[in-house]
Amino acid sequence: MEEVVNKLDKIAFIMPRGAIYRYKTGAFKQMIRYAPLTIPALISLIPEDMNIKYEVYDEGVEQIELNKIDADLICITSITGGSERAFAYAKYFKSRGKTVVMGGVHATLKPEECLEHVDSVQIGLGIEIFPQMLRDYKAGKLQKIYRAREDLCYKDFPFPNRRCYQDKKLKFVTVNSVQATYGCLNRCEFCVTPYSSKGYHHRPVEDVVEEIKQIKSKTFVFVDPSPIEDDYAKELYRAMIPLKKQWASPMTIKIAQDKELLDLAVKSGMKGVLIGFETVSQKTLLDIKKGFNSVNKFYNAAKILHDNGVAIMGCFVFGLDCDDKDCFKRTIEFVNEANIDVPRFTINTAYPGTPFYERMKADGRIIEDDWSLYDCQHVVVKPLQMTVDELLEGHRWAWKEAYKTKSIIKRLSGSRSFLPYAIGANIAYKIYAHNLPKFTNKVMCDYSDILNQI
Ligand code: SF4
Repeated sequence: MEEVVNKLDKIAFIMPRGAIYRYKTGAFKQMIRYAPLTIPALISLIPEDMNIKYEVYDEGVEQIELNKIDADLICITSITGGSERAFAYAKYFKSRGKTVVMGGVHATLKPEECLEHVDSVQIGLGIEIFPQMLRDYKAGKLQKIYRAREDLCYKDFPFPNRRCYQDKKLKFVTVNSVQATYGCLNRCEFCVTPYSSKGYHHRPVEDVVEEIKQIKSKTFVFVDPSPIEDDYAKELYRAMIPLKKQWASPMTIKIAQDKELLDLAVKSGMKGVLIGFETVSQKTLLDIKKGFNSVNKFYNAAKILHDNGVAIMGCFVFGLDCDDKDCFKRTIEFVNEANIDVPRFTINTAYPGTPFYERMKADGRIIEDDWSLYDCQHVVVKPLQMTVDELLEGHRWAWKEAYKTKSIIKRLSGSRSFLPYAIGANIAYKIYAHNLPKFTNKVMCDYSDILNQI
């Protein structure tokens, strides 16, 4: 018989809006993103015998009415950009006598900092530590830190409980997110993945295929940060062919360089890829330790993907150390000439908990301390070859230039891949580009809507 010290009838899961999701897309009520997998995955880990109810609050798509939350335990998950807001929520709930637990990327990278605000933190995947935390809480033995084992078994993960997003379903592009691999073998200097997810791991192909089979919709997205680092991807895509689904996924340009892999991916329904090109300067790619990308292969990779009916969301970073003031123009030329279906631009950001952050800090180049500004759309690292204002202006110029109607028509008519999605995303990002300058630092760092309720 389980010892009961704390009542645990209901959990409230809260995902504070990451700064990047704060930009409402003008006329669009729907966010142009998929539903995150974290909360559905955590809900699937609640032990059945504990008979716990739950509520889900995703601030990226809804306003949270704090006075309506009536749960015994508050579980917050956050990326760095949402962490200051997470701390404001923690302060509010603790003032109401609630226990607050925090997990997610920021808690994994900065556990000690989070512990200054919450009662307990979860480091790494919740697969074992989340149910353990629930039992400990109920028994009055909550620990301050729960750390996932490094030798975690990736077999037989319970399938995420996507029904938890049922009432918010129409606010996302899709609620059908799937993850097959964890971590990455590469070490791109700016990326948090190698530091928040140690090693490179796969779920068994049969587990992933069975999970996809159970998704009723024809379409879904993979959220794996780096899915094609070894032969596992070929095995997975081969097994997915009979499912006759359509999917999109983050990728590297290696997908266009391995014909067998590309054929299998396309046959299994690949319709869109998110590729971190990062820069159109080879010198910069080497500088950020992403030398496996090669600028002279970018055009060919884009053409091969388009020839196979695959749309490209291409991501580019500005303000890297080798970037001068011409980087914006050069990038836009590439985006238009290569017909990148959905281009996205970010500003060089050093995430806390990574060696890159430590290096920038030691060099005195971290110029913003508020994590809310760590959304890749603000300057938090002092650039080397331009001023902060030049970087901000260039970044905004690139967004506007890429989403001029002339550019959209040129790119999409050159690509003609997965057009319904590409047209919708271009309209949404055109509005986003227009609104970008409105989101000042003052707006980003204001949590008074939460703190005033204490
Ligand atoms: S940017 Fe992509 S390839 Fe590079 S470390 Fe991160 S996940 Fe891996």
